[in-house]
Amino acid sequence: MTAPEGAPELRVDVVTVFPEYLAPLRLSLIGRAVARGVVDLHVHDLRRHGVGVHRAVDDAPFGGGPGMLMAPGPWGDALDEVVAAGRAALGPAATPHLVFPSPAGRLFTQRRARELAAVGWLVIGCGRYEGIDERVLDEYGERFPVLPLSIGDYVLAGGEAAALVVVEATARLLPGVLGNAESLAEESHERGLLEHPAYTRPAVWRGRAVPEVLTGGDHARIARWRREQALRRTAERRPDLLADPEQRPGPAAREDTGGPRR
Ligand code: SAM
Repeated sequence: MTAPEGAPELRVDVVTVFPEYLAPLRLSLIGRAVARGVVDLHVHDLRRHGVGVHRAVDDAPFGGGPGMLMAPGPWGDALDEVVAAGRAALGPAATPHLVFPSPAGRLFTQRRARELAAVGWLVIGCGRYEGIDERVLDEYGERFPVLPLSIGDYVLAGGEAAALVVVEATARLLPGVLGNAESLAEESHERGLLEHPAYTRPAVWRGRAVPEVLTGGDHARIARWRREQALRRTAERRPDLLADPEQRPGPAAREDTGGPRR
């Protein structure tokens, strides 16, 4: 979706029991995008919809088992409110894409970040405890795209850190967020490869010289060297990427001019 001049490229609503956790989204690159209105960020406190004096949002799981689960009532009330507010701003036909961070979700990748950068409106529901009652995903999944997303094969205490990851990775792909958009195309995961090693001044540091090819000014040779280094690094560190037919790196470099030297 291409936003009209001056309108945000992406609206992001985050629902959480720890609104303060999302404060880093007001810093640095993404913070500037928020301040400039490229990203329209709204953070909502789920506890406003909690029950009783303690504003409880959790309950014991049916069927037993350890821990507590987030109850559907507060989530339904919060999400209805978020959808209504978003549609009041974006128009009655606007479609939120609902992301639920979860270690049981599909893996969040650079490709997924690119897809999310184009949707126009993201709503992120941060789980805590043992997660969220599944009926919340079922209910909203009948009306909107619902994406349970994992940021990796480990278990966090809550979805807020994952929400930071998803918003940062997605928002930096929006037009005008990065100063140098060209750097995006060269990055790790953009072409199914990890990025090549990189160096800056001084040309010699603690007896370590940068690879000679980088100081020679032959741009075709530099490009071949970088490509070769990217392939080598990917084979060493992430051979799974090379095996993934979806990643499909282009043809291999024809020339290897050697790696870093002392
Ligand atoms: N019982 C859940 C399971 O085994 O799938 C784990 C719940 S976890 C302790 C609490 C919350 O942290 C989840 O609801 C989710 O929002 C978040 N979370 C934990 N690990 C995550 C991951 N790898 N990626 C995204 N979100 C994660």
